[in-house]
Amino acid sequence: NDIHIAFFGLGNMGSGMAKNLLKAGVKVTVFDLIQAPVDDLVNCGAIGANTPVEAVSNVNCVVSMLPAGRHVESLYGEILPKLKDKCLLIDCSTIEADIAKLLHERAQQAGHKFVDAPVSGGVAGAAAGSLTFIVGGSESDMLAAKPILEIMGEHCFHAGGPGAGQVAKICNNMLLAILMSGTSEALQLAVDNGIDAAVMSKIMQQSSGNNWTLEKYNPAPGVMPATPASNEYQGGFMVDLMNKDLALAMNAAASNSSLVPMGAMAKSLYQMHKKNGHGSLDFSSIFKAYSEQK
Ligand code: NAD
Repeated sequence: NDIHIAFFGLGNMGSGMAKNLLKAGVKVTVFDLIQAPVDDLVNCGAIGANTPVEAVSNVNCVVSMLPAGRHVESLYGEILPKLKDKCLLIDCSTIEADIAKLLHERAQQAGHKFVDAPVSGGVAGAAAGSLTFIVGGSESDMLAAKPILEIMGEHCFHAGGPGAGQVAKICNNMLLAILMSGTSEALQLAVDNGIDAAVMSKIMQQSSGNNWTLEKYNPAPGVMPATPASNEYQGGFMVDLMNKDLALAMNAAASNSSLVPMGAMAKSLYQMHKKNGHGSLDFSSIFKAYSEQK
């Protein structure tokens, strides 16, 4: 039973993930709206497709890594009627839990397995194959997806039923937005008072303020060589996408009257940052909101 995957969305995350599938010897057909990343993947051994329907014509598995819910809903609307019997469908995009639930239903009605499997770990994790997958769906669908997810990642959590992966993912990303803003705020406070950002980062890494952004994704330019901050905030996780995730978190909060004052504050900051023209920069560029407004 050889796996043949149609992979949709070869952006910052998807291209690294698809490359890891190829490295593991999996047959992969790729599609993206942009030709350059398709050509890049074809050079790595993938089969290029010109349309989504062409991409799924021979496959038994689909992996999607698209920006937002509307893209995912429209893709599956197009490919669901064209799939072979009993496919395994894995959506790794971060989208509305309600859209994920709807896709679960549609896929199940058509006889396919479906999991929402959003990820954490960033572009570096996607490239290294060390992502964390946060899965929603039935136990059996999750078990079917696991061998494929384990090629692209290190950890795989079953958050619960359909849509639960998305809920868990946006809780995590709300905290990430708070941590990135708070870390930027603390670093700039240090700089304004005469302490070097790299020195302050080292101190906090060994102190009670330590967190993932300090360990892996420092927002101050030049502190860590391989981060978006040291590359003019190019690549990584776009401010636009963080705004999308914060909106998803605020909607989830509103529907259950959850208290999210810190998340709401982070959302306002990221919205301001987008309005200031930084939507396509990496989300660690929120540091500029502190360092440039003097
Ligand atoms: P990206 O914008 O870099 O890539 C998205 C890709 O999808 C682009 O190449 C785009 O051309 C393509 N695309 C859009 N619509 C398409 C369609 N209908 N068919 C085929 N391709 C289509 O985004 P990304 O950073 O790779 O993020 C993808 C998803 O992963 C988002 O939901 C994001 O929230 C989530 N995510 C991103 C990160 C990160 O660090 N970048 C981390 C975790 C989760």
